Amino acid sequence: MILMKFEFNKTPTTCKDGRDNYTFYEYQLVWMIANGKTIPAGYDIHHLDGDNMNNDSDNLVCIPKDIHYLYHNKPKNTTGIHRVHKSKDPTCSQGYIWKYQYRKDGKTTAFQSVNLKKLQEKAKQNGLKWTIIDPVKALKSYKESELNAN
Ligand SMILES: [Zn+2]
Repeated sequence: MILMKFEFNKTPTTCKDGRDNYTFYEYQLVWMIANGKTIPAGYDIHHLDGDNMNNDSDNLVCIPKDIHYLYHNKPKNTTGIHRVHKSKDPTCSQGYIWKYQYRKDGKTTAFQSVNLKKLQEKAKQNGLKWTIIDPVKALKSYKESELNAN
């Protein structure tokens, strides 16, 4: 549902209520009108489809700022394997080490190996999932690990 179209999508507008000036972006105003309340302190408005110009009220959700930050700044997986990344390590001849990182009891836990297949074995020994999320990237990672092992 499109409630209204503003011209201030990129620049905020200022509203006056007699005492104070409030500055809002279009998407913030659309959300507030659609939900009949102001944005709570510590919360952001997020565009569900990722399109910052789509200010349709159905595309806007109110979420805590810290979760919003994580959502837009989550590190990209480059290895193709869930929970696995290359961690810089100058003590290794290859300059990095394969790291398996996961959450356990609310804490970040990790183990590592210079060899990706050994890392996979460690994960299995610990009863942890080993999930290929991108087969092309994963194959590249395995090949890279084998090359470095020779
Ligand atoms: Zn967002």
